[in-house]
Amino acid sequence: MSETIERNSLSGGMVRECETTLSNPGHAKVTATHLKRDAFLYVRQSTLHQVLQNTESTQRQYALQQRAIALGWPMERVQVIDCDLGHSGASMLDREGFQRLVGEVSLGHAGIVLGLEVSRLARNSADWQRLVELCALTDTLILDEDGLYDCNDFNDRLLLGLKGTLSEAELHFLRARLRGGLLNKARRGELVSPLPVGLIYDESQHVRLDPDQQAQQAVRLLFETFRRTGAAHATVMHFQREGLRFPRRLHTGARKGELVWGELCLSRVLQILHNPRYAGAFSFGRTRTRTWPDGEKRTQLLPFEDWLILIPNMHVGYISWEEYQENRRRLRESAQAYGVDRRKSPPREGPALLQGLLICGVCGLRMSLRYHVRRGGVFPDYICQRAHINRAPRCQHMPGQEIDAAVSRLLLETMTPISLEVALAVQQEIQTRQDEAEALRTQQVTRAQYEADLAAQRYRRVDPNNRLVACTLEAEWNAALRSLQDAQQENERLRQQDRLPIDDQVRSQVMALSTDFPKVWNDPHTTDRDRKRMLRLLVEDVTVIKTLEITLQVRLRGGTTQTLTLPAARPIWQTWVTPPEVVQMIDGLLNEYTEEQVATILNERGLHAGKGGSFRGYTIGALRRTYKLKSRYERLREAGMLTVEEMAKVLAINEKTVKKWHKAGLLRGYLSNDKGVCLFEPPGSDSPAKIQGQKLAKRRRFPASKIMLETTKEVQYES
Ligand SMILES: [Zn+2]
Repeated sequence: MSETIERNSLSGGMVRECETTLSNPGHAKVTATHLKRDAFLYVRQSTLHQVLQNTESTQRQYALQQRAIALGWPMERVQVIDCDLGHSGASMLDREGFQRLVGEVSLGHAGIVLGLEVSRLARNSADWQRLVELCALTDTLILDEDGLYDCNDFNDRLLLGLKGTLSEAELHFLRARLRGGLLNKARRGELVSPLPVGLIYDESQHVRLDPDQQAQQAVRLLFETFRRTGAAHATVMHFQREGLRFPRRLHTGARKGELVWGELCLSRVLQILHNPRYAGAFSFGRTRTRTWPDGEKRTQLLPFEDWLILIPNMHVGYISWEEYQENRRRLRESAQAYGVDRRKSPPREGPALLQGLLICGVCGLRMSLRYHVRRGGVFPDYICQRAHINRAPRCQHMPGQEIDAAVSRLLLETMTPISLEVALAVQQEIQTRQDEAEALRTQQVTRAQYEADLAAQRYRRVDPNNRLVACTLEAEWNAALRSLQDAQQENERLRQQDRLPIDDQVRSQVMALSTDFPKVWNDPHTTDRDRKRMLRLLVEDVTVIKTLEITLQVRLRGGTTQTLTLPAARPIWQTWVTPPEVVQMIDGLLNEYTEEQVATILNERGLHAGKGGSFRGYTIGALRRTYKLKSRYERLREAGMLTVEEMAKVLAINEKTVKKWHKAGLLRGYLSNDKGVCLFEPPGSDSPAKIQGQKLAKRRRFPASKIMLETTKEVQYES
């Protein structure tokens, strides 16, 4: 095989020249097995800038091709991999060429790998070590400008390893130096970074407000509108309604630095409101860029506290630092209300009026809803259970019926003639705002006029013989005239639209709402879904907090907030409790009547037990025990009444006779329970005595007492 090398190395002047730069022992490393396989030349410049500027390096990389030929590879067997031009070597991901190279090496297709410097092959040590390892396994040589390496040779391999490590270190120091310089400047607030529209650098690199009055006023109007509406979206809508455009500065291209005017979009408003430069503050490190495992670079906006550098009051601004912070707070709040994952759901059929509109006042999340069927009706419960899903205790929940009722009462109250009168007055004020907007639009027309004039001048100045230039300028002039006409027409159209005065007819239509709305709202034929739709036209959302009472913050469309307080609904067991007045009544009645009799009396008086049912003897017994009232028996005993046994003893007769005498009206007795057990009045001085042969009926002293028994259910009030 050494013959082949010699033949090749002697085959031309070019090869000879290369040979001299090659260290001699290199030759010995190339064997026939290497030459049987292909040579791979890997060409790379990491950034597009390098590709454009550093063509010399690329030339040198391609020149390596000649050295492969010098080593014995025929021209057609030298494969050039250059699809990674413009990619960074910091990682293997996304570098198709490098991956192909690794693939070819591991499949044993490569006899030699060529690169300008090894650092050019891979700047990530891990990638590089892997390549060296693969080269060793497949017996592949590596060649760079400094020499030829055999990966199975310990010394060569050590050298390759060092080169890889050094190149990675080089990259690191390069970055550190760059970043260190940046940070130092940033710490002093002197780092020149692109300014948002409305701010510019002057000759001495100080930040100034843009001298372009129109741009300045547009930015001012944005902040003013947000101050008034409190919502970024409302700000966008205002600009759209008024047909106002917003400037954007071009950062690249031939027209770099110029302002272009276009429609204002929500993301722009948010960017501007979040940008501390408008408050005159300098900031650095608001974002962090990370490379993800899939090779994608993602930039993340850091939380306020994690910004690297923030220096308030560094330069002039459009708003104060305090207002900037207030704006951020308002944006955060509305983000809670409109967060993507808890967006309002569309109205559904269920009766819960505030479905999707209720926000938990404790954690700020949207509350969900649950229906219960109770006593044949469907009742909503509002629950905040977002945290509960993650096994945290449930935030708060409350029955919805009263909340719904309170909100609908509020709506009906809102639609009164007085409040509509106020609304009309507000409309009048809006009129004055429209005047301001019109002034801005007039400026737009003036600008268009100025541009048209400029185009005309340019056209007139050109030599008419210079046809090509003249044509272009004429076209430009025409375009400028067209946009002037557009601006004028647009201004006129919006002016007409704005100038819709509130005449008497409109006024009477608006006032009619105050009677129509309650009619429709209360109509039983109106479906729950329609009622909810109406509600959403008037109410933005409702924030609720339940403590000892329920507090509702109803945010109405248009920005006003109404606060309602409701007594917190009692737990359900409390609604079953018998009212204290009834308990008192039972206490009184037990002096005279048995429990069964008391129940009958209460039922006749139309009173209900706690759960709503009628009273029974045992309910009275249960209530008596619960409220620790004295029983009928105890009361009679306290009053000195005697039992049958005692009575028998006193009268020296047997118990049967006592009962008989009682029945016959010789003794006065009282029912002590509903089983017919009586207690007796102690006999006085003229106690009845046994008289043989005299009919009991003739000896009656009291009206006969009819004992009420369970079976008869008869009530006898006078015993
Ligand atoms: Zn909550």
